[in-house]
Amino acid sequence: MENNKNTFENNEITVTFAPKKCIHADTCAKGLSDVFRTTVLPWIDLDAASNEKIISQIKKCPSGALEFCYNKIESLFPNY
Ligand code: SF4
Repeated sequence: MENNKNTFENNEITVTFAPKKCIHADTCAKGLSDVFRTTVLPWIDLDAASNEKIISQIKKCPSGALEFCYNKIESLFPNY
């Protein structure tokens, strides 16, 4: 699901993209091309991989242009 062109969310996480920070290293697209797509809009598809894989890839972003947060504390502890 997409809220605006630089904010993307699914039922567990919200991912933001800061284009001015992006150094276009393509780390995200090379690492998880089904999610971070260079030729399709919206360019981030959070339904194309597990949240664990998406978060792991976001942590490898060299510029900090990609960030994430959990939508609700319950998503961290589903049985809490
Ligand atoms: S990994 Fe980060 S810096 Fe590299 S293209 Fe993706 S958003 Fe931009």
